[in-house]
Amino acid sequence: MDLLAYWRWDIYRRDLDEGAGFNFNSRQSRLHSAIEPGERLWLVTGKPTEQGTQYIVVACLQVAAKTENPPDYRYGRYRVWADIKNSFYYSAADAPDTAPLLHRLQFVTNQPIQTENIGQALQTMRSLTPNDSTLMRQWAQNLPLEPRAHQIADEYTLEKAFDTDESKVREIITAYHTGVSQTRRDALLRAFPRNRQYVNELHNLYGGRCQLCGFDPLLIYGVRACNAHHIVYLSRGGRDILENMMLLCPNHHDVIHAATAVFDFRQLHYVFSNGRREPVVLNRHLPPQNAFTG
Ligand SMILES: [Zn+2]
Ligand SMILES: [Zn+2]
Repeated sequence: MDLLAYWRWDIYRRDLDEGAGFNFNSRQSRLHSAIEPGERLWLVTGKPTEQGTQYIVVACLQVAAKTENPPDYRYGRYRVWADIKNSFYYSAADAPDTAPLLHRLQFVTNQPIQTENIGQALQTMRSLTPNDSTLMRQWAQNLPLEPRAHQIADEYTLEKAFDTDESKVREIITAYHTGVSQTRRDALLRAFPRNRQYVNELHNLYGGRCQLCGFDPLLIYGVRACNAHHIVYLSRGGRDILENMMLLCPNHHDVIHAATAVFDFRQLHYVFSNGRREPVVLNRHLPPQNAFTG
């Protein structure tokens, strides 16, 4: 069943500023229990205007995977990741007021939104009936897309630049990473030396081995061949910290990017687009599972 959820305006704006993540987080377990891969998560925000709050549809995310966040994650435990090709961010700039549409929805509970305060009414995510979903799709057909959601550097290219030299990073950020805020761009431009230090830390922690399969190029071939990977992509708002990085062999690194695999911080495993899951076999720096039980 498709789901309708409220995305706080400031958090939605931050997502665009840091690099459209095409994922959504919540403290509500319904984000995992009430939606399945292939179904759509519709996101509505309340945009502040001079006339008061205007409710608009800002995204339609087709769910590709569900994962759980690290224990201290500020936006909640549950996360869904979208299939980027089949998902959309809509422009909030000149979006039509969605209130009339939202008041027409029945929801599976058969409890339409009665109040003027739609944000309040959507505090609990609501499951859409098939007819509601059709109404939403018809509404969205003519909405202008948000260009910033796609003005994002390719993560693999960016990571390779972080592996080579700082001028390459500058080149990519300046040319392709234009959808994010200037602050975020500046932060990425300053990240090079620290990133270099983290890469070395990872190699030291794991003796150059792949954290997913234990492949040890140093032992077998006498060379360093594993790469540092940003678990939540830097280009899509991922944090520039060691806890968001992992050391991977070239095979695993390639396939994780090719299959847009996403990481479950609670189970410490990767979820691939075909549903396959692979656990981390070497871990000395990611929060252990027992961090969640306290
Ligand atoms: Zn590997
Ligand atoms: Zn990577």
